[in-house]
Amino acid sequence: MNSLINEIIEHTNIVDVIGKYVKLKKSGANYFCLCPFHPDTNPSMSVSPKKKIYKCFSCGATGNVITFVQKFKKISFAQALKELAIALGYSQEKINRYFYPNKQDKNSAKIARFHTLYANANEIFKLLLHSEVNKKCLNYLLNERKLSLNTINRFEIGFCGHNDDQAFVHNLLISKKDENFNDDDLLKLSLISINDKTQKITDYFHHRITFPIKDKNGFIIGFIGRTIEQKTPKYLLSKETILFSKSNNLFNFENVCVNQPATLIIVEGNIDLISLYEAGLNEKEYGVIALMGLTFTAEHMKLIKNAKFIKNILLWFDNDLAGKKTTITNGMKFLKENYNVFVVKNEKGAKDVNEILVNFGKNEILSCLNDQKNDDYISFYIKTICHEMKYLNINAIIHDILLLLAKYGNSLFWSKYIDLIVQLTKVDRNDLKNTYQKIAKQKYVVKNEILLEKWDNPQKKEKLTEQYFSLLQSLKRSLKDLVKYVILFPEIAIDVYEQLNHKEMEFNFLNQIICFIKKVGSMPNTSIEKIIANLIESNNITINFYDFISSQIDEINWLKKNKIVPLNHQKNQEKISKLVKKIDELCYRLRYEKNKYKILNDNDIDKNKLQKNNEILFKQIKNFKINEKK
Ligand SMILES: [Zn+2]
Repeated sequence: MNSLINEIIEHTNIVDVIGKYVKLKKSGANYFCLCPFHPDTNPSMSVSPKKKIYKCFSCGATGNVITFVQKFKKISFAQALKELAIALGYSQEKINRYFYPNKQDKNSAKIARFHTLYANANEIFKLLLHSEVNKKCLNYLLNERKLSLNTINRFEIGFCGHNDDQAFVHNLLISKKDENFNDDDLLKLSLISINDKTQKITDYFHHRITFPIKDKNGFIIGFIGRTIEQKTPKYLLSKETILFSKSNNLFNFENVCVNQPATLIIVEGNIDLISLYEAGLNEKEYGVIALMGLTFTAEHMKLIKNAKFIKNILLWFDNDLAGKKTTITNGMKFLKENYNVFVVKNEKGAKDVNEILVNFGKNEILSCLNDQKNDDYISFYIKTICHEMKYLNINAIIHDILLLLAKYGNSLFWSKYIDLIVQLTKVDRNDLKNTYQKIAKQKYVVKNEILLEKWDNPQKKEKLTEQYFSLLQSLKRSLKDLVKYVILFPEIAIDVYEQLNHKEMEFNFLNQIICFIKKVGSMPNTSIEKIIANLIESNNITINFYDFISSQIDEINWLKKNKIVPLNHQKNQEKISKLVKKIDELCYRLRYEKNKYKILNDNDIDKNKLQKNNEILFKQIKNFKINEKK
């Protein structure tokens, strides 16, 4: 299949689409408008129907119709692509074949039907929430939960039910004869239940508020139904299908991936999650997911670990004993994975995030996010077990805390937590130190020997030089340029890959670029789109990388079409080999810089070895310079 991206850009009228969101004014061959991506008072954005691009002369925002919709609606590239494809009248099958190319054909038709069915159900749920008969439910969200219409619409909250008709949604869905849905599908997708004895059909989410769950591409793959009538369970989840599995999906994760924030907040319920967005959370800084009564699995952890931009975890569970236990168990999982883990301090005594919104307002929620106020996970752990388990043997508690410190400790830990432990347990400082030494020695001899020497002498956090980061930036740029050439001339990929001396990078994104080049080389005569699809299927690339490559493909197709680049690689041969050399040189220089820094600042390493290593690196770097002069 040819590039869907290409087709969409080609056949969509960019002026019509952008004109839907901002007011355009024609001037010559182009259109102008106020740029929606920066505070603009004088129209600085131009839209070219001929080139099919937009460009802001003030903030530099530029792209095609897909990236415009993506940025404007704050959705993923894939979601924007799908939206525009549907607007052009593409069939679900065709769109699905593009996103799930490796799923068998019979499944592709099924997936398409399921997507449509869920999309239809969602539209019905949304309409029902806003219908006169369900006014009570909408008012509940607006008044008792203090969610605005804007937020309700953004999260596509709906309601399943119409008076006492227990199969209202079922009847509406099945009446769409042209879509070819049947009760079998509806049952599989948890949209209806059928009573074993009476065979009576009822809506699965009857009298529940509905929240669509979406996959990473933004397609609905299931629902959460929350009761408003004290029914159990409080949350009802769609059953697993070929689209959805509980352990492989996290509510709202697709949204987190669009903005790539460094901090991920984890809350219990999805109304808590939505309350954070209602409060006006900075989405570039924070993303939120909700557990919804699920156990946090190893698969969930994998999802989060694949989102490399996440560095900090902020746990915000309910303010009760169960919530504290959830915090302790889940926080430990993240601590093990080396995240910076924090726990929100709930000073106002509210039960959960939504109660803070309702009782204290938006600003109180935002101020709870302030890091300085919150405990790091270890402090929270120490306080909680000292407080909640005071009826236990004090020695057991201390043992537990010290074990945690020994297990996940670094040189900073002792000095950081000793006062807190002394204060809470009233145990003598020296006794504590002795016990700690014993535990650390018994259980984790190797790791903690260094720790024991240093605990009164905390070491500075590792920081690399500015020079290092500027080299890294230029390595990133060079690799991105190389990707462009590889997309333009896939036939060079195999040579390029072989010429690269450094095939392992320290950063995942860069590694993915190398992996991509290798893949292109190993699949000659395959379209780049297929290669990407293959990488997605095998879970080898992050969404971030997918979006990056998609935008590169876009740009290149556009350049090609406008004949801005030469169409054969011979003309670029020299540039390409220069670039490959530059990448190698940069890798050497990065290693050199890092060693140099370590030699000066780290006392725990073999400095002689690094020194020797750097002498070799220095020669190699010099070599590059000589070659360049030739
Ligand atoms: Zn702008």
